[in-house]
Amino acid sequence: MRIVIVGGVAGGMSCAARARRLDESAEIVVLERGEHVSFANCGLPYFVGGEIADRDALLVQTPASLKASLDLDVRTGHDVVAVDPAGKTVTARTADGDIELGYDALVLAPGAQAARPPIDGLDSSRVRTLRTVDDAVALRDQVDAGARRAVVLGAGFIGVEAAEALAHQGLHTTLVEYAPHVLPPLETEMGSLVTAELARIGVEVRAGVAAVAIEHEREGDVVVLGDGSRRDADLVVLSVGVRPDTAVFETAGVACERGAIVVDAHGRTSVPDVYAVGDATVSADPVTGARRPVALAGPANRAGRLVADAILRPDTARPIPQPLGTAIVRVGAQTAALTGANRAALEAAGIAFHTLHLHPAQHAGYFPGASQIHLVVHVRAGDGLLLGAQAVGLDGVDKRIDVLATAIRAGWTVDALIDLDLAYSPPYGAAKDPVNMVGMLGENVGNGTVRLWYAQDLDSVTASSLVLDVRTPEEFATGHVPAALNIPHTQLRARLDEVRRAAGARPVRVMCQSGVRSAIAHRVLAQAGIDSATLSGGMLTLRAVVGEQALALP
Ligand SMILES: Cc1cc2nc3c(=O)[nH]c(=O)nc-3n(C[C@H](O)[C@H](O)[C@H](O)COP(=O)(O)OP(=O)(O)OC[C@H]3O[C@@H](n4cnc5c(N)ncnc54)[C@H](O)[C@@H]3O)c2cc1C
Repeated sequence: MRIVIVGGVAGGMSCAARARRLDESAEIVVLERGEHVSFANCGLPYFVGGEIADRDALLVQTPASLKASLDLDVRTGHDVVAVDPAGKTVTARTADGDIELGYDALVLAPGAQAARPPIDGLDSSRVRTLRTVDDAVALRDQVDAGARRAVVLGAGFIGVEAAEALAHQGLHTTLVEYAPHVLPPLETEMGSLVTAELARIGVEVRAGVAAVAIEHEREGDVVVLGDGSRRDADLVVLSVGVRPDTAVFETAGVACERGAIVVDAHGRTSVPDVYAVGDATVSADPVTGARRPVALAGPANRAGRLVADAILRPDTARPIPQPLGTAIVRVGAQTAALTGANRAALEAAGIAFHTLHLHPAQHAGYFPGASQIHLVVHVRAGDGLLLGAQAVGLDGVDKRIDVLATAIRAGWTVDALIDLDLAYSPPYGAAKDPVNMVGMLGENVGNGTVRLWYAQDLDSVTASSLVLDVRTPEEFATGHVPAALNIPHTQLRARLDEVRRAAGARPVRVMCQSGVRSAIAHRVLAQAGIDSATLSGGMLTLRAVVGEQALALP
């Protein structure tokens, strides 16, 4: 059997390696357009930033090493330009002319290309994408040659990593994002934390505005933004998104949806004996059902492995799971991560949900180095099914998001998190881990023990309710909701009449700094027969959602 694989990086090479491990007799040919295979695309930003010093560290394998260890026939400089499904052949363009190759099974793993929006002047030689080893080397060369000013267009994961890398190298870096905040899949309250960290490490963030032109000057380019502002740039990184690199295959009759190859649960395309994996394919979101490509390395690698199984062990091959899109990024000293659906995706899918905000310490508060993890968890209304989670913090974010990703994948409801036995000693966690606390709050909200109100509803709440702030007077003085009544939670039981008088016929909406003290106060009020709810995430979340301008400040 001859298996031909198009694309020799994440999905393609994973498929090739697994195929060999399953079948010593198969002929396995990998055709790669570029000069390198099996390179560490995820490491490219860290080479630009200098943390990975040596370019060769990015080249995980070479055609020679793959030949030696796995007997793979890896051909770089082979750009597949045509597929003939009837004759079961592919045509590859090489420096020495076109070659034609027959296949028994064809695996398409062509990945994605950087999107190129219609911006005047985008053809400048100072504009680079960051997709290949050559791209990263070219950017690093520009840095080493003395570039001082950088503009990064697009603040998705790669754009944020590129901006961090360039700032780390000492360049004055501006990050431009058309969406209202950086890392658009993050909720507003999380995005603002990332924006603050980018500012702290010296990256200027211009969100809510697009680049409209790049003017070429002799000494550098000028990036012109939609609001008329201009930024000088010795280099520009274009990272406004990707699109599946599938034109050749769509032309050959492989069914695509908005450019992404449609596959079944075993990676089979619409064409017999042709499979596809990775960034080039469309998959259904397991939470919302929305169909979209997921451009992440883990799903591509795992799908590659499973497609090899589907080709060589079709009777026992496991289906390719629908990816949750779990992702993580370092931003300065902070880490931001997410899994499952966000608020916008849930609203678009018409799924009723509520949101939990928590700000627990990542490990015991008394142990040196304790810091807050800011957590957002979306839970389905009614049955408490976990739908999505996001976290930002200095430490411990990866562990919590991975546990939550596992729980979502397992189809758990939020209360099941209470029972998780997670590793604990003071330097690592808490006897009630942040994940256990998500479960406790989720259960309390689900059964009505705790009732939440949200920062997004501040205007309607202040118009119709008494806002009761149960922080200390000193905290209250640092900024509070206008017209809020301040009674510290420790005094509340003795001052309930004062609350009743101030509220009159209105409900009481309680708040504190992070939501812990206000939950206690809420229980006091509710058990006293007062219509009460507690602000989800407290002042920390409120500030991140509505900003300082909505507060009465000292
Ligand atoms: C800078 C950067 C950082 C990233 N960081 C992360 C991260 O931290 N975490 C994460 O999960 N994901 C990350 N990703 C995304 C991840 O790398 C991709 O999701 C993953 O590589 C996709 O695998 P793939 O096999 O579908 O495509 P790729 O790995 O992109 O491989 C596709 C290959 O196919 C080749 N090809 C395309 N068309 C043809 C053709 N017609 N003929 C021959 N060859 C062809 C291309 O040259 C390319 O080498 C990052 C990506 C980049 C660019």
